[in-house]
Amino acid sequence: MSRYPESVDVAIVGSGPTGAAYARILSEQAPDAVVAMFEVGPSVSTPAGAHVKNIEDEALRQEAQRRSQGPAAEEATVRNPGAVTSGMRRARPGTYLLPEGYQVDGEDGLPVAAFSSNVGGMAAHWTGACPRPGGSERISFLTDLDELLGEADRLLGVTTDAFDRAPFTALVRERLAAAVDDGREEWARVQRMPLAVHRREDGRLVWSGSDIVLGDVTRQNPNFSLFDESLVTSVLTEDGRAAGVRVRDLRTGEQHDVHARFVVVAADALRTPQVLWASGIRPDALGRTLNDQAQVVYAARIKDAAEVAAASGAGAPSLGTDEVIDGPLSEQSGVSWVPFTDDKPFHGQIMQLDASPVPLAGDDPVVPGSIVGLGLFCAKDLQWDDRVEFSADEVDSYGMPAMTIHYRLTDRDHEILDAARAEIVELAKAVGEPIGDRPFTMPLGASLHYQGTTRMGETDDGRSVCSPDSQVWDVPGLFVAGNGVIPTATACNPTLTSVALAVRGALHIARTLASV
Ligand code: FAD
Repeated sequence: MSRYPESVDVAIVGSGPTGAAYARILSEQAPDAVVAMFEVGPSVSTPAGAHVKNIEDEALRQEAQRRSQGPAAEEATVRNPGAVTSGMRRARPGTYLLPEGYQVDGEDGLPVAAFSSNVGGMAAHWTGACPRPGGSERISFLTDLDELLGEADRLLGVTTDAFDRAPFTALVRERLAAAVDDGREEWARVQRMPLAVHRREDGRLVWSGSDIVLGDVTRQNPNFSLFDESLVTSVLTEDGRAAGVRVRDLRTGEQHDVHARFVVVAADALRTPQVLWASGIRPDALGRTLNDQAQVVYAARIKDAAEVAAASGAGAPSLGTDEVIDGPLSEQSGVSWVPFTDDKPFHGQIMQLDASPVPLAGDDPVVPGSIVGLGLFCAKDLQWDDRVEFSADEVDSYGMPAMTIHYRLTDRDHEILDAARAEIVELAKAVGEPIGDRPFTMPLGASLHYQGTTRMGETDDGRSVCSPDSQVWDVPGLFVAGNGVIPTATACNPTLTSVALAVRGALHIARTLASV
């Protein structure tokens, strides 16, 4: 007996936040539609898709991370943020690296391109930064973009005040603002980072994962089902239209066809094109204009933290209740945002850390909140030839077509990286005393923000894969979701934008279902 239905209205491939956004909007707008979600990874948290940081028991949390690491569940990951700057080719907890094909001779490649395979996808492990795109990051042909971003805020449970009581966050923002705000428009000024996190009534932090995106309305929808450990190997088509999915039940090894009127592939920016390619759906732009956000990091210490706190009348700085609330559940106690601008095409994520990312000289006690990690993500110079290719002969550990990444930094990319390295030193000095003698440039792929591989276009001009509603050109009924859909070169964290685009696609399906 198969555990899958024979036929549904909508089949969703992947349970990350963009697949979850389709399920949520359909549950709200088309509650009679039968929706099935297929996820290759196991369920690792409760409710389904919940962020693993919400798991209080450390051993259970680490087990959930390990089970999200697909074929690399037994491999070591980088737990200590300091080790990230050592340049090791290692994944972060909850993720695993593309084992082969990540770099071709003579190219830069994406040496630390990574995935998560679990219910909730990468958003069971993410930092939850949800800035809005600005300037050229925005998709100019979507006139409803702000409304969609507002919906994405709602689905992801984005807040800006969760860390307001944490020490020195206002001070960090003031110092950054003094260094960069001059001449910037309001949207581009230093501000609190919008984060997908909220506080429960008892004060504990709850990080949003796909569980928050799904919400009670989806969980209570009798027409919605989620199937974990279910690999979609291809999209079925009939007369050129999407007609369902072929699924391998990883518990039994058996293969089943599930018929569907609409199929949404939300399997991340590298595996969504993989599923399409495996289905023989291969538009010219599939897998192309791949872009990642090259990242530079640095750290600074607020050396005068104790004096500042005393002068403000706050007494000796202490995490107070936040110490108990954040405890081991939070790797940072405040996040500030230095927005991207077209003149400075990098996005700043400034996080106050609970510990220093590198060993500190001497045995000075570290005042909580006084170590500040700075990161700048750079927008890529988009190139048609930067791409993920799939093999007709070789397969990956799931038996899907093996990937090869072709990826190069252009001269312009190097210029922007140089500018970002200079900028981050200025930001570190503005905040306090830089830690370490120079910023570190992360191996490519470290941002985990891969985009462009199923890009949206205003028209079917051969340079895009899908329409503004995320429907694949020439394959009616087939939708793509995830960061791969974003057509612009963004530097800001992309999930809010890709959830916004998913909302648009889901509304289109809901309207179509209502009209037939
Ligand atoms: P994913 O969340 O990757 O989900 C895709 C799902 O599809 C996976 O669960 C996968 O197993 C499943 N799948 C793949 N292939 C198949 C198949 N053939 N059949 C069935 N299922 C399949 N982004 C931000 O915007 N802000 C941040 O602060 C941020 N911080 C991050 C920090 C970390 C440590 C990590 C790991 C990620 C971070 N990200 C951040 C990235 C963010 O998590 C992703 O952008 C987001 O999860 C993408 O959502 P998605 O639904 O497109 O894909």
